[in-house]
Amino acid sequence: MIPMVDLKTQYHDLKAEIDAAVLEAIESTQFILGPNVQAFEKEAAAYLGVPHAVACASGTDALHLAVVAAGIGPGDEVITTPFTFIATAEAICYAGATPVFVDIDPRTFNIDPALIEAAITPATRAIIPVHIFGQPADMAAIKAICERHNLLLIEDCAQSFGAAAGDAMTGSIGSLGCFSFFPSKNLGCYGDGGLVTCATPELADELRVLRNHGSRVRYHHSVIGFNSRLDDIQAAILRVKLKRIDQFNTGRRRVAHLYSDMLKDVATVPFEDGKGIHVYHQYTLLTDRREQVMARLSEKQIASAVYYPIPLHKQDVFAAACAGVSLPVAEDVANRCMSLPIYPEMPDDAVRQVAEAVKGALVG
Ligand SMILES: *Cc1c(COP(=O)(O)O)cnc(C)c1O
Repeated sequence: MIPMVDLKTQYHDLKAEIDAAVLEAIESTQFILGPNVQAFEKEAAAYLGVPHAVACASGTDALHLAVVAAGIGPGDEVITTPFTFIATAEAICYAGATPVFVDIDPRTFNIDPALIEAAITPATRAIIPVHIFGQPADMAAIKAICERHNLLLIEDCAQSFGAAAGDAMTGSIGSLGCFSFFPSKNLGCYGDGGLVTCATPELADELRVLRNHGSRVRYHHSVIGFNSRLDDIQAAILRVKLKRIDQFNTGRRRVAHLYSDMLKDVATVPFEDGKGIHVYHQYTLLTDRREQVMARLSEKQIASAVYYPIPLHKQDVFAAACAGVSLPVAEDVANRCMSLPIYPEMPDDAVRQVAEAVKGALVG
């Protein structure tokens, strides 16, 4: 069986170091926002090239805290992509604001900057691009639109730890950047975890207050906040893995490039323009014969998956609000996309085996 992801190999590679870090965190008994959390926030900020990083309980919370810290609320509209995990839109809705979906670029599957301005209204407050599958969104164009219309830019970097758009790391370009450490993400912990990056000390302070019950001084509450903190044990694990993130992402890129070399003539393989760094959270191709390919892979004990089969404007939860909304590129991509197994340690022969099976289904 070739799985979509293999977390065990990486754990076994790092077992001695991770086990020691976890045991030390337990021994310290500073379980919530302990010394590893503080150290991890500093190390992550340094890696990402941002002045401030605030850890929290999940990627979904990172987005929610960012939207609230940005002052977005009822009556506000936030422009985002329909081709993402539901959490991007959930965070907007949690704050009482309305997500407005703009169609995607068929090459990158990211929000298409050329279509954004037509969706801006007097109620628009922010744009949340998602660096989907680890592919950086067109941040130069999106940032220019934000500056022209005085909108906040919040990046959903849940799938893009270590990716770069141009020379800048994703998460360092907008006012706020939101990361997830869900175990299968490029940088994953062994439970739930998240992080918000931001450019100003005011936003960092607001995020720290919001994640801890609206409290700056213990038992003094200035706003209604949340319980959204990173565990010290998770931070200890993340510190071990952060040191290797470039190596992990290089491994993903090796796998992806081998796939693309073997499959470029039979399917639409992921786009890279050489301007940024795609970190391949997923390896996702387009084919008109998805069912056939997935059935063939399954016969050969090879996993595959569809991320995402239904764009957000077509989800039941948004169907009424989005009645009459047509986003043809996202709809077409959702009908033809499929993702192949990828993880940093995936051996070349397994990659070749998967690619041969895909080819066999499409050519044979
Ligand atoms: C995983 C993910 C999230 C949510 O992260 P969690 O840590 O699972 O809450 C948000 N946005 C995108 C694009 C994701 O892939």
